Amino acid sequence: MYCLLCHQPIQQLSTWQALFQKCTTFQACAKCMAKFERVEEQPYENVKTLFYYNDAMRDYIHRYKFGLDIALAHVFKEHIQQFLKPYKNATFVPIPLHPEKLKQRTFAQVDELLRVANVPFVHLLEKMTLDSQSGKTLIERKQTTALFRRNRTNLKKDTHVVLVDDIITTGTTIRLARETLEADGFTNISVVVFISARFRKRGDLQHG
Ligand SMILES: [Zn+2]
Repeated sequence: MYCLLCHQPIQQLSTWQALFQKCTTFQACAKCMAKFERVEEQPYENVKTLFYYNDAMRDYIHRYKFGLDIALAHVFKEHIQQFLKPYKNATFVPIPLHPEKLKQRTFAQVDELLRVANVPFVHLLEKMTLDSQSGKTLIERKQTTALFRRNRTNLKKDTHVVLVDDIITTGTTIRLARETLEADGFTNISVVVFISARFRKRGDLQHG
């Protein structure tokens, strides 16, 4: 078995190690995995994040998202399962890509991470505009209002909805998605994001 990131062979764990770590298959080697940093202090209000955006993560995103290497969805499978465990009775709602963007990217990155981790999800939101948040100034981002529209479903309004995104920078996308659901009457909304572009607490930012 080979590491998905560096392509070196992965040492198989002995049975007791596998039992102890409660996992039997690793998709990336320990050396590669050690380069990712787990979030210690949550940098965003009301958002739970898993990893910091560091050099290793930048390379990962580049290969996964823009290099279209779908196999890389497996790298964080176990982490994502653990991370989402506290929400086991909730309904997971990925932040969607616009259909045109989906064509370019060929697969929906957030959906694929969930699918690989065996986490069921529903598409409750639809992306209405192709506008990318990343090309905008902070003021322009804050002024953006309608980015999403609700999909038709028969979910009850008191369902615990967990919005899921891959990366958070300013938090505008998440805010707008949350507002769209709130406007529709949903009252119990949590947010989880796999990668945090912020490193520490509010006011101590390394990225926008
Ligand atoms: Zn490796």
